Amino acid sequence: MDFHRFVQHAREHAGSRSRAVGKKLAAGQQPTTMFITCADSRIVTAAITGAEPGSLFELRTAGNVIPPYTLTVPSSEMATIEFAVLQLGVSEIVVCGHSHCGAVGALHGGGIDHLPAMRGWLRPRAPREVSDPAMRSEGQAHVRAQLDVLLAYPFVAEKVAAGALRVHGWFYDIETGEVSACAEHAFLPL
Ligand SMILES: [Zn+2]
Repeated sequence: MDFHRFVQHAREHAGSRSRAVGKKLAAGQQPTTMFITCADSRIVTAAITGAEPGSLFELRTAGNVIPPYTLTVPSSEMATIEFAVLQLGVSEIVVCGHSHCGAVGALHGGGIDHLPAMRGWLRPRAPREVSDPAMRSEGQAHVRAQLDVLLAYPFVAEKVAAGALRVHGWFYDIETGEVSACAEHAFLPL
């Protein structure tokens, strides 16, 4: 990566933003949506969603894995979700998985013996039974599994039951750029 170019781009971007926008952003954030996705470099959330600064509260983890709720071992992921829901009061959470995900591949096929931290992060996420052996289906089943984990967070369950929060599963196809959304029995194009 050319870091000089990176700094130049950052300066130009800051320069092209109006003072009014900067002032508004500095006053605080009121995002309506939390977006949880993989750390994969091929996912550019602003490009997928068209989100402007201040509208999307993001959490990126290896494999968009959401750890189970437990206060015995609080995690950065839990803290970030808690902040989004209880402090910022987001009304939507999107969990977005993607095709060709290395973490999902590792869940099903291993190949991460040399990555002890990744092994520890993924090991408890036992893959669900998927009848279709295609990676895409595994990836989509993986998103569904994360939704189940998220819906077991007590404050998430409470807000969803009260109609104050909606939780969505998305799947991003790296090759086509298409996004599909989790419906009851399948992922359907958005
Ligand atoms: Zn991934």
